[in-house]
Amino acid sequence: MNCDVVIIGAGPAGIFTALEMVKNKSSKKIVIVEKGRPVEERRCPKNKTKTCVGCKPYCHITTGFSGAGAFSDGKLSLSYEVGGALPELIGEDFAQEMINYTDKIYLEFGADTRIEGVEKNEEIKGIRLRAIQAGLKLVDCPIRHLGTEKAQEIYLAIQNYLIDAGVEILFGYNCKNLILENDSCVGVFAEKAVNANEGLEILAKHTIVATGRRGADWLERLCEEHGIAHQPGTVDIGVRVEVRNEVMEAVNQVLYESKLIGYPKPFKNKVRTFCQNPGGFVSQENYDNDLAVVNGHSYKDLKSNNTNLAILCSHNFSDPFNQPIAYAQKVGELTNMLGNGHILVQRFGDILDGKRTWQKELARSNVKPTLPDAVAGDITAAMPYRAMINIINFIQAVEHVVPGFASPETLLYSPELKFYSNRVKMDSDFNTNIPGLYCLGDSSGWTRGLMMASVMGVLMGRRLI
Ligand SMILES: Cc1cc2nc3c(=O)[nH]c(=O)nc-3n(C[C@H](O)[C@H](O)[C@H](O)COP(=O)(O)OP(=O)(O)OC[C@H]3O[C@@H](n4cnc5c(N)ncnc54)[C@H](O)[C@@H]3O)c2cc1C
Repeated sequence: MNCDVVIIGAGPAGIFTALEMVKNKSSKKIVIVEKGRPVEERRCPKNKTKTCVGCKPYCHITTGFSGAGAFSDGKLSLSYEVGGALPELIGEDFAQEMINYTDKIYLEFGADTRIEGVEKNEEIKGIRLRAIQAGLKLVDCPIRHLGTEKAQEIYLAIQNYLIDAGVEILFGYNCKNLILENDSCVGVFAEKAVNANEGLEILAKHTIVATGRRGADWLERLCEEHGIAHQPGTVDIGVRVEVRNEVMEAVNQVLYESKLIGYPKPFKNKVRTFCQNPGGFVSQENYDNDLAVVNGHSYKDLKSNNTNLAILCSHNFSDPFNQPIAYAQKVGELTNMLGNGHILVQRFGDILDGKRTWQKELARSNVKPTLPDAVAGDITAAMPYRAMINIINFIQAVEHVVPGFASPETLLYSPELKFYSNRVKMDSDFNTNIPGLYCLGDSSGWTRGLMMASVMGVLMGRRLI
């Protein structure tokens, strides 16, 4: 197969590349290779089975048209300060201009016009004052909340728009490798996800890898094999915290998401809150290597009694070990082993008391786990000491901002791991050291959110029109 542009991965980064080209009436032939299914065929069987059945050949939560975005909470962060390091590459003002532009595209395809976190200034001032007193920074970030079910409708509209415009989307194809000739990238080799014997060579002038965090270790192998210049990324290790909505109400109502950052003693590492889901649900996602990790999301209409959010500690390595992904995988595997393959959950009070949580003890609390197949146990038996101390001290600081947050019944789920791909070296036009090859979105290591990945796609699309 021959084309002008081949895009690997139909997540926001890949989709917005094609979208920007089509919107600007590009006549180039675009092919998208996506190992998952069209958005309307993506279903997580857990709604019926109540427990994760470990779908093969891939998890529907993170794979298929719109990538990890389809089943995500769909919170579009509208500030350049949130969502990754792309502003370092293209400049903060330009990043903000592009966020505003890309936000308008989401609105065109049906996003809610309401923006959270921009009104109620007096209340926000009060939250900030308490954060300052607790030694925490409150980051301002307006949020447009799509909601899990509405996000799927928006991405379906985009999918149909692209197909109607002649973009060819090869669903069910897994890209295996790049094709290089004379040190330039001239296309990719893909094979059917369910039948590896059916292969396809796609030759293209421009090859764009936009495979998300799921593709992080695959891309790492490609970097080694083809000499793609990169530097080791960061990995975030933490927990997913769940409390009753009453505890978070003051923050949920004015900010929707409280982005707090701290550097707790004694290590003074950066610890932050991430992905807050008022009335949301804790969820499980499975990686291809069978690693089960915890996440969270919330629907626009269906609400639980709880709010969940992640608390993450960033880890960087240098010498003699610089493989952050492998490190976090080991932590995840150990935690999965203790949970017999399930997500572990423990009450905060039990952690302070130095005891595990028993399943029957969960029923004694006000907060009921929204991840029913999580297994009560001892997350401290698998969590590295430094990360655990950071988390405990950070939770105790957040208690000053949100009284009740550090209550003994607060639930901590593990492993909450955020793998950020090794950062692919590129210039501000996204040129890598391999002519014809570009890396975008979360797989490039430069983004870690829907909006920033979409922005990177828009900019790539503009370049290729
Ligand atoms: C449960 C959950 C909730 C989230 N909530 C939010 C949120 O509220 N707000 C926010 O900003 N971010 C959120 N995120 C993160 C956000 O979804 C990602 O940052 C974003 O989707 C990254 O976009 P991307 O295009 O770089 O990659 P992805 O969305 O991961 O898409 C990559 C695509 O590439 C495909 N792919 C991978 N490897 C191959 C291959 N070899 N061959 C073919 N196809 C391949 C995958 O199937 C996938 O469809 C959430 C993520 C999860 C998992």
